[in-house]
Amino acid sequence: MRRVAVIGSGPAGLSAARAAEECGAVVTVFEARRKVGAKLLVSGAGKCNFTNILTADELALRFGGSWRFMMPALRRLPPEKLVAMLAERGVSSHLTDGFFYFPDSESAVDVLNALRPGRAVFETDAAVIDILVSGDGAVRGVRCADGREFAADAVVAACGGVSWPQLGDVSGVVYLAAKKLGHRIVSPSPALVQLSLDGNPLGGLSGMVLDDAALTFGRLHTRGTVLFTHDGISGPAALDISGAVLAETPPSAVLKLAWRAEMDFECWEKFFIDGGRTAGRRQAVNVLGGLVPVRAAALLAVMAGMEPGTLISELTSPVRRKLSHLLAEMEFRPRGGGDWTKAMATRGGIDLHDISSGSLESKLIRNLFFAGEMVDLDGPCGGYNIQWACSSGFLAGRNAAAGC
Ligand SMILES: Cc1cc2nc3c(=O)[nH]c(=O)nc-3n(C[C@H](O)[C@H](O)[C@H](O)COP(=O)(O)OP(=O)(O)OC[C@H]3O[C@@H](n4cnc5c(N)ncnc54)[C@H](O)[C@@H]3O)c2cc1C
Repeated sequence: MRRVAVIGSGPAGLSAARAAEECGAVVTVFEARRKVGAKLLVSGAGKCNFTNILTADELALRFGGSWRFMMPALRRLPPEKLVAMLAERGVSSHLTDGFFYFPDSESAVDVLNALRPGRAVFETDAAVIDILVSGDGAVRGVRCADGREFAADAVVAACGGVSWPQLGDVSGVVYLAAKKLGHRIVSPSPALVQLSLDGNPLGGLSGMVLDDAALTFGRLHTRGTVLFTHDGISGPAALDISGAVLAETPPSAVLKLAWRAEMDFECWEKFFIDGGRTAGRRQAVNVLGGLVPVRAAALLAVMAGMEPGTLISELTSPVRRKLSHLLAEMEFRPRGGGDWTKAMATRGGIDLHDISSGSLESKLIRNLFFAGEMVDLDGPCGGYNIQWACSSGFLAGRNAAAGC
């Protein structure tokens, strides 16, 4: 019987272990922590948003340029199949906002239990520090930090990223082991994390929310909720763009905020000009307060150089244009770095060029597979990352067990 060693007990490792077991392999899961699936348990604030309504193809496209690599795994276990698979295992689910899937119990523990293999041996408190390879370039086992060696015919490395170090393995030691075996590593940087802005001019708006704003960074756009924090911005639109921003040190482009996603410079110009005609006796700041939060309207008016009490019909062309510009594309310089302890994902990891997308096997070492966040892929907020972890784990696990 084929022996499969799985490194990591997150959604990728559990899916791999279960898939390998279902194909008849004898599976051992190695977990550096005492607790299994710690990060899965806090996902979605403990409720676990495990996927969403997109098709496999649509979901892959939201990961950006690497979508082709993801297709074999996502087609094997697409979102609708994951939903059905969990339901078969007793975890029914529902949609939130017509898009995000959560278990009906709103408990990540139930998702974890449904992914968990039935017979596999779990070695917890067992950090793997080395992947052992025989002379003919095939995997032969793993070595743990306490010196124990375990023989295996295949190894699935599903060690997650280095984000939220409080719940994962901080050492990145399996990255190093993979590197030692010749795999290239794309330098990890934090993703899905709030952004700090240089000299944040909007710090006074901390706690305020824009429901439908847009952010642009170079050629990238995100749209959705933006939340102002004391030193920057958060909320889904900011989190989704953070990986691209923080992958560069210092960030190469400015970040632009549209206070209302659907309104560009011309729209705002028209809004103020029309307002001058139809509501000329009202103060400009009050009229603007109908479209953006009142506190923000007051601050923007000051930034545009508007005199207090200015009526909308009295707006001068330079002030109106300045205001329209601030509202359509206010520029910020994001600070590099990013806070690993708050990042919900890791950008970077094992270079996709060194992994075969059809099987998730290493192109350099036979019978070594990679799955989940450990590889150089990260998706936006909304169930994308757990879906990828489950799909890639499933494909890697089946192939590690030599298919079935
Ligand atoms: C607060 C928070 C909320 C989130 N919410 C969501 C959400 O709602 N929806 C969503 O899709 N995504 C969410 N994510 C992201 C999601 O949790 C991860 O993308 C996902 O868990 C990745 O799965 P994984 O199995 O690849 O890695 P992980 O879940 O990180 O699991 C990897 C495991 O490997 C272990 N490990 C590492 N190195 C070793 C080693 N050398 N030896 C042995 N074990 C090792 C780690 O301890 C860890 O348990 C959230 C993340 C965070 C931090």
